[in-house]
Amino acid sequence: MSTIEAVTHEMDLTWRYASGAAMEKFCAELKEHRISALKCPKCERHYLPPRPFCGRCCVRMEEWVPVKDEGVLEAWTVMYLPIVDGRTGKMRDAPYGMGLIRLDGADTTLNHYLAECDPEKLRVGLRVRAVWRDDANGAMDDIEHFEVCE
Ligand SMILES: [Zn+2]
Repeated sequence: MSTIEAVTHEMDLTWRYASGAAMEKFCAELKEHRISALKCPKCERHYLPPRPFCGRCCVRMEEWVPVKDEGVLEAWTVMYLPIVDGRTGKMRDAPYGMGLIRLDGADTTLNHYLAECDPEKLRVGLRVRAVWRDDANGAMDDIEHFEVCE
């Protein structure tokens, strides 16, 4: 009796979905290398990525506020297994760093890739900045990754 250990198969999983008005505006600004958050009119928290309603106050948010492309690393991890990059559909080489980044002017964190993947060089509280792609197309990966500020 034999067992199957692995089956290699390629699948084409192309799809499109509506991201909503807030993410549409957010991504359009990314194409111009600008970042904005939505401000809650009640608690005044600045949400990034933007979402249409404040989860704390249950009110609609419509005021956009500028956010810097630099901020603080709030949490991080290093991934050692290659995975399919959800943004490109291609395998991402390992290791690579992932971080939760609170940009200056935002009260929430953005999940994104880090240029640094050496655990000895990463720590909560590090200042990081966005590295923008030259060929921006209005998507989250217009920011290639965040690098540690010197
Ligand atoms: Zn609120």
